[in-house]
Amino acid sequence: MGVVHRMFELLFPPLCPVCREGLADDGLCAECVKTIRWIERPFCPVCGIPFSAGTEEHRCAECIKKRQPFEKARSAIYYEGAGLKAIRRFKYRYDMTVEDSLQRFITYGLALLDTEGFDIMVPVPLHPKRLRERGFNQALLIARMLSRHTGIRVEPQALRRVKYTSPQVALEEKERLVNVRDAFMVEDEGLVRNKKVLLVDDVMTTGATIRECARTLKRAGARVYALTLARVV
Ligand SMILES: [Zn+2]
Ligand SMILES: [Zn+2]
Repeated sequence: MGVVHRMFELLFPPLCPVCREGLADDGLCAECVKTIRWIERPFCPVCGIPFSAGTEEHRCAECIKKRQPFEKARSAIYYEGAGLKAIRRFKYRYDMTVEDSLQRFITYGLALLDTEGFDIMVPVPLHPKRLRERGFNQALLIARMLSRHTGIRVEPQALRRVKYTSPQVALEEKERLVNVRDAFMVEDEGLVRNKKVLLVDDVMTTGATIRECARTLKRAGARVYALTLARVV
């Protein structure tokens, strides 16, 4: 089986999982790789929002105005191009052929956090109803990918989603805040109290979900660092 599979791969190299046209080399094809924009310095040292090149590193207006519930937040790529397509394939079609790319994104994002010594990883949870609809929690799978790489333990039970909310995608920024308010709960504070927690999700849009999760964890005594694959800038 192994040998046959390898011969097959030699004869028919795998197609790029995003465009299905180019040959996958190192995850995606060369054309798709070109459309991935990695988040680089300078960015806000707190929330990680990137500034246009040439700007010095400083806290962004938002982070100056109010204290964030997380210590730091980072994302690996801009939510666009082939990176966006890869994340959507994974999230809505459970297409794991993009796993290598996602693994690369999340590892890069972790390096941007520039922080060590996490006690646990906590994926942003789905409401049980949404979990039944989708069949899996994409944030949990991302956390597991990163766990295989880093050995940081995943604690999926730490945070529970207790409010069924409309998909954030359809909402404006203000509505998103109201939508997720009090949506999460820490049932067993012992799991997170005095822990350095790495909160993981796929995409950060307005940050409303990440902030609400971080606030909930912080109230239970955790220090929270947030990490997502991609970010809407
Ligand atoms: Zn491609
Ligand atoms: Zn900021």
